[in-house]
Amino acid sequence: MDDRFGRVFRGVKRIVDLLVDPLRKNPNAAKFDLSIPEAHTTTVDGDTGWASRPPAWVTCPQCGSDIHQRDVHETIDCPRCVATYAPNEFAELELKHLQCPVCGNVMEDGIRHPNVFTMPEWATCHRCHYHWEFDHLF
Ligand SMILES: [Zn+2]
Ligand SMILES: [Zn+2]
Repeated sequence: MDDRFGRVFRGVKRIVDLLVDPLRKNPNAAKFDLSIPEAHTTTVDGDTGWASRPPAWVTCPQCGSDIHQRDVHETIDCPRCVATYAPNEFAELELKHLQCPVCGNVMEDGIRHPNVFTMPEWATCHRCHYHWEFDHLF
């Protein structure tokens, strides 16, 4: 057994004990746990899931103008021509960009599984650091 590994392990265990101990002694620990169901997401302002997708701008296939879809449930209605698309037709339209729901900035978006998804799986705002994920990271 590598002694260095043992030392590191004991060190990690002590840190975990320090973090867990105050909760064990706290009679309100159960209530505390309920208030933070996902501790790993609390440090970042953001949302998860397709229903919480940021507002999007897509290109109208008929006239080429920009269509703003404020949320995933909204009908995609071209402001210039008669084209309208149901919310579930979003994936067939060309996405220009997602818009940050917090500060309105253009977001950077990307795909983690290019063979499975054609729509962005994440988007991040470089101005206010709002971050959206299609699915949980963990
Ligand atoms: Zn149009
Ligand atoms: Zn922002």
